[in-house]
Amino acid sequence: MNKQDLSGLIMADPRYSEACRSCMNCGVCTAICPASGYYDYDPRVIVNLVRESDEETLTDMLSSDLIWYCGQCMSCKPRCPRGNIPGVLIQILRAVSINTGLFVHSALGRQQLAIKRSIGHNILETGYCVHPTRVDPETHPEQGPVWAWMSNNADQVYGRFDKGYDKAGPGLLRKISPEALGDLDRIFEVTGCKKLWNTIETESEKHI
Ligand code: SF4
Ligand code: SF4
Repeated sequence: MNKQDLSGLIMADPRYSEACRSCMNCGVCTAICPASGYYDYDPRVIVNLVRESDEETLTDMLSSDLIWYCGQCMSCKPRCPRGNIPGVLIQILRAVSINTGLFVHSALGRQQLAIKRSIGHNILETGYCVHPTRVDPETHPEQGPVWAWMSNNADQVYGRFDKGYDKAGPGLLRKISPEALGDLDRIFEVTGCKKLWNTIETESEKHI
């Protein structure tokens, strides 16, 4: 990757013009940001670093945990007096980090593979981010013996919570129709999510 590419890729994203206009360094985004209370994370600094377009700094940032600390709460969106959206800028930085393979250099970046294979696949295969039948007791021993028992008796247990469980129609954890799952699949395709997922798989494989 040459020195011009990262800044160019960030600014070429169609979201950029809305996410990053001009910054007067007021720090309101940082003051409201919940992630800044937990991590060494400062959206004001990130906006500035992106605007400075220093390729070495951008390479370091996209290779680090920093861009994965944001919780995407979008509290920063209505607060910025210049109309920036630091949370959307983070979305762009994450996409560029994945597309350039830089994400594999950080621990939180590498977790994208597990997130893709768990939550991502859950959404496309069940329609839910998390579904109890997908939380396998063997891979989640921290859930304890009660969870293992519930998993082995799922049909009896979940049907007691709601009669609509795993059935067509309304109800908690109802079965999502094949048509709706097909729509979800198409959304993930046309929005570029599946392409991003493939890149996560191939770049992670190279790193191993
Ligand atoms: S979207 Fe991210 S940067 Fe914005 S306030 Fe929420 S955690 Fe902070
Ligand atoms: S709130 Fe807006 S103008 Fe203020 S530091 Fe954050 S991005 Fe810059």
